[in-house]
Amino acid sequence: MTPKQLSSTLQSQQNWLITTHKGPDGDAVGSVVAWAAYALQCGKDYLILFPDQPAAYLCPFLEGYKWEVFQAEKKYDFDLLFALDYNAPSRVGQEMSGFVANYPASKVMLDHHPGPEEFCELTISHPKACSTTEVIYQTLEELGQLSLINLPMAKGLYLGLLTDTGSFRFPSVSAYTHQISAHLLSLGLAHHEIHEAVYDVNSVTRLQLRGYAIAEKLQLYPQIGVGVLSLNKEELRRFNYQKGDTEGLVNVILSIEGYKVGVFLMETEDGVKMSFRSKGQRFVNAFAQAHFNGGGHQYAAGGFYEGTLSAALAKLESLTDQL
Ligand code: 5GP
Ligand code: MN
Repeated sequence: MTPKQLSSTLQSQQNWLITTHKGPDGDAVGSVVAWAAYALQCGKDYLILFPDQPAAYLCPFLEGYKWEVFQAEKKYDFDLLFALDYNAPSRVGQEMSGFVANYPASKVMLDHHPGPEEFCELTISHPKACSTTEVIYQTLEELGQLSLINLPMAKGLYLGLLTDTGSFRFPSVSAYTHQISAHLLSLGLAHHEIHEAVYDVNSVTRLQLRGYAIAEKLQLYPQIGVGVLSLNKEELRRFNYQKGDTEGLVNVILSIEGYKVGVFLMETEDGVKMSFRSKGQRFVNAFAQAHFNGGGHQYAAGGFYEGTLSAALAKLESLTDQL
């Protein structure tokens, strides 16, 4: 796909439906915000459509934008669908995946997850990019439209860069990432306000849940540098768990000297949600895909186990030598 083809698609379609993955994170919300602000810059109408409600700390970033959570019985009449920060219909969850896969309008993917599935007419996938917002910026650069980036777009773009790079520390950060960041700051972006809005919004129970998990629930395998954290439903309830409360918790394991792989398991109504993180030479996406019906990036992947938390832990334990 050439920039010219994309450019003519964008120009000819007036109503944009902007979607992202289930359990939207900072890059997902940053991407849809940046793209909605871009739609406005281009004189388009748009709707941001989430598979489920974003975590509370991300909602302030959506203020002033048109957004809603997908309703299966509702009609969505748009002439272009954007798939931002996901690479397969399954990533929007069971309820919405058929809707995305069979949506009658043209679809455009902008994403950075490896191995995109073929469900979009235009697939813009850069697995080396640190975030989908970096992919968006690069695409605008290729379209010769960097001058359209205004402060609202900059906020979304920066949110994605910040959160998907662990505050600019992962190996995925490049000189280009910092060049983008410099450009956004030159537009007057108050980067410290975004850091505060993302990282300084703990509730007391959220901190206590994390403290409890680290103090009481950390299983360590020092020989292989693997650590596992898990929380069951009762523990989540005890600390008044709110969506997003455990985000990033798995990274605590990687901050222990000598530990290269971290796994977090959280019991939900349907099964066990799993998060994998790694560094150095250890990659976790293939493991998540092979054993836990998941996937993702080399250093950050997720998966799901249909069964009890103890069964998931037992399966994981039997496989730790493969991590
Ligand atoms: P998280 O642990 O934050 O939920 O997910 C980490 C990374 O793995 C994200 O980049 C996400 O896109 C990916 N990921 C999470 N769950 C799944 C899954 O079930 N399937 C696939 N393919 N990727 C996932
Ligand atoms: Mn991302």
